[in-house]
Amino acid sequence: MKWGLIGASSIAANHMIGAIRRQGGEIVSVLSGSPDRAADYAKTHDIPAGLTDLDALLADDALDAVYISTTNEKHFPQAMAAIVAGKHVLCEKPLAMSVADAVSMVRAADAAGLTFGTNHHLRNAGTHHAIRDAVRGGRIGDVLSVRIAHAVYLPPFLQGWRIDNPGAGGGVIPDIVVHDADTVRFHLEEDPAEVVAIDGISGLGQGVEDSVMSVWTMPSGAMVQTHESFTHAFAGTGFELHGTKGSIFARNVMTQMPVGEVTLRTEAGEERLSFSDHDLYDRSVRLFTEAAGGQGRPAADGVDGVKSLAVASAVAEAAKTGARVAVDYGGI
Ligand code: NDP
Repeated sequence: MKWGLIGASSIAANHMIGAIRRQGGEIVSVLSGSPDRAADYAKTHDIPAGLTDLDALLADDALDAVYISTTNEKHFPQAMAAIVAGKHVLCEKPLAMSVADAVSMVRAADAAGLTFGTNHHLRNAGTHHAIRDAVRGGRIGDVLSVRIAHAVYLPPFLQGWRIDNPGAGGGVIPDIVVHDADTVRFHLEEDPAEVVAIDGISGLGQGVEDSVMSVWTMPSGAMVQTHESFTHAFAGTGFELHGTKGSIFARNVMTQMPVGEVTLRTEAGEERLSFSDHDLYDRSVRLFTEAAGGQGRPAADGVDGVKSLAVASAVAEAAKTGARVAVDYGGI
């Protein structure tokens, strides 16, 4: 598959260029807003064309798919242009700045018969598959609650638009809550119904929140508690599921790397669950490539991307108003 990169980003450089190439993809072009950066990035990553004109990138008939990893406010117009040009789209999260725009993207791809994927990496992790298998296998009984610890320290090289630019989609809610929403949906196979939340600025945010805690209700009656932050250097991450017959404690699993540990505790005692240590982004690209070729579906499709954004939008609204907010999935 021939790919164009829309966005000369860190995530493409650090994870996705390698993942695309390891899955047999060929990257033929990259788009940046700056000519110098387009040229530098293309040279550094051995990409034949470094462009600044989206129409020129999309005019290449040989191009099958685009990977969009620009700042968040650009995802919607760039994805719509790619869909009009007949390209499959793998888009970064959050899909858009509003649920309505995200729904439009996903419907447009569907109407054009194109594959649309959302690059939610966590549902590709071996750790999360081990957790899901244990839950599916009834090992913790009925799920009563989920607790997510996703308070990390934003590395200095990412302390740009995320901490000071609401117009680019900055803030910890669009950045991290979307991943937690997707992970909860992946495990529980149901969509959060209502949320309450409090956000704050705890050292990094300049005009946007850098920390948030929220509680979500689920249709089954399970409750979800989450903590996301950019300012916690030593907290570590975790994902816990508590059920009527057991609990799962997963440490260091809300991460981009294939690491962590997963422990099941039941009446019988504690058991460490084994998991595959494959690269998370390799699996995302593999399933997207297969889906574009007519086999299966992306790990997270467009509807998954809309729903994770809907939950994050509800958390933002709840934090702003102090109200209990029903999640609006935009009719999808
Ligand atoms: P970056 O800040 O690295 O890149 C975003 C944009 O900023 C780029 O498109 C680029 O613009 C510009 N830029 C990047 N580096 C520089 C630089 N050194 N000098 C000047 N401009 C620069 O963002 P991320 O890679 O962290 O995030 C991009 C998207 O990917 C976001 O939507 C984010 O939410 C998502 N993401 C997803 C992750 C996942 O695991 N699924 C993980 C991390 C991010 P231009 O293209 O115009 O050159």
